[in-house]
Amino acid sequence: MRERADAVVIGGGIMGASVAHFLVKLGYGEVVLVEKSRICGGSTQYSAAHVRQHYTNEVAIRLAVRAAEMFANDEEAFGGPTGFTRHGYMVIAPEEQADAIRQVVPVQQALGVRTEVLTVEEIAHRWPALALDGVALGCYEETSGYADPVLTVQTLVDTAKQRGLTVYEGCRVLGIHVERGRVSGVVTGDGEIATDVVVNATGPWGNEVGRMVGIEYPLRFSREHEAIFEAPADLGAFPVMSDAVQRLYFRHYGTGRVLVGEGWPKEPEPADPDRYDDGTDEEHLGRMVPKLVRRLPALAERLGEPGYGGAFVTGYSGIYDITEDWYPVVGEEEVEGYYSAFGGSGHCFKIGPTIGESLAHVIAGLEPPIDISSLSGRRFAEGRTFSSVWGPGNRA
Ligand SMILES: Cc1cc2nc3c(=O)[nH]c(=O)nc-3n(C[C@H](O)[C@H](O)[C@H](O)COP(=O)(O)OP(=O)(O)OC[C@H]3O[C@@H](n4cnc5c(N)ncnc54)[C@H](O)[C@@H]3O)c2cc1C
Repeated sequence: MRERADAVVIGGGIMGASVAHFLVKLGYGEVVLVEKSRICGGSTQYSAAHVRQHYTNEVAIRLAVRAAEMFANDEEAFGGPTGFTRHGYMVIAPEEQADAIRQVVPVQQALGVRTEVLTVEEIAHRWPALALDGVALGCYEETSGYADPVLTVQTLVDTAKQRGLTVYEGCRVLGIHVERGRVSGVVTGDGEIATDVVVNATGPWGNEVGRMVGIEYPLRFSREHEAIFEAPADLGAFPVMSDAVQRLYFRHYGTGRVLVGEGWPKEPEPADPDRYDDGTDEEHLGRMVPKLVRRLPALAERLGEPGYGGAFVTGYSGIYDITEDWYPVVGEEEVEGYYSAFGGSGHCFKIGPTIGESLAHVIAGLEPPIDISSLSGRRFAEGRTFSSVWGPGNRA
């Protein structure tokens, strides 16, 4: 194990991989990535990986617009594939929430999102596969889509390794040394590394690692379920869907398959990230499938049969690490040289790379492409928390 590094990034999910990738790209000396299990062995592996730009607040819109451009040009931006599929993204809302769309779409347009408000008739005309009962209004962004989360993280890490990143897998950080108010090293299960810069990108373990330097934020967990079903080849086109009417999301999963998950607001399902069962169950499937069929009636024939007509491919669950205002905690803390990059709150796959890029610039003392200072954890004490036109949750 290296005795010294210029920066140690803890956590090999989308956040850690992105910060490490961009630090190396900026030529920030010896960078080490330490991961207690395997690269992408945490919550990122379960991500639906929707890459959309529908957000309420400027910092998130800017991060998402830049991220969508990067995913669309992944070879150039990340040096390899991400599995990005440009299917577009659409939110559909009931009458009582239609104002959220009317309010936020002009803000997004002003910040460069190619998005438009659509009436129910326009949606039905463009995507006849969708049944739209209960829908009053929608908004559609054509440059969004979804990616492959594991492939994305692997690409970020592999290309950084080619430029000198050192990766230790199966290596847990057990402690962080602080001397006179600044970071001086990390203690791992395999030895110690002296360093002036530590990035805590440990997702649901963010507070466990934060406590090593005495910093902790309100963070709660929720177990989130997804399932994949076979679908008829002639199912028809539709974008990645956020259905605010039913609190459901669904999309194509490659060809001949669909992915479905439950959206917010809902009751959280508390879980211990170290010990939870990462499968799904009948209770969740039994809730999601009727809602999915309501929107995609062509699925009814098979999914309506006992055992979902044998169309169930797989189901799984991952953990959301939810902060007080559903926005991540990013930036330097009171301990000099110690940076947070966690608290993704169920929506930080897509903006992981742009958060990583800007945080790497901040660490290197350079002007970041996007001003991420509003994401600092100090916002909780200073009363600068974020809110969304949709209310609490990760829709925007
Ligand atoms: C079911 C589901 C669906 C989602 N869908 C979307 C979506 O469609 N779009 C979107 O943008 N976002 C989505 N998200 C959210 C997004 O996936 C997460 O915000 C993001 O992946 C979190 O990444 P991370 O790097 O912060 O955490 P993680 O991926 O959990 O990575 C943290 C890593 O730190 C490691 N670690 C922890 N403690 C230590 C230690 N002491 N020493 C060393 N290593 C340690 C862990 O092993 C882990 O690998 C979804 C999330 C889930 C669960």
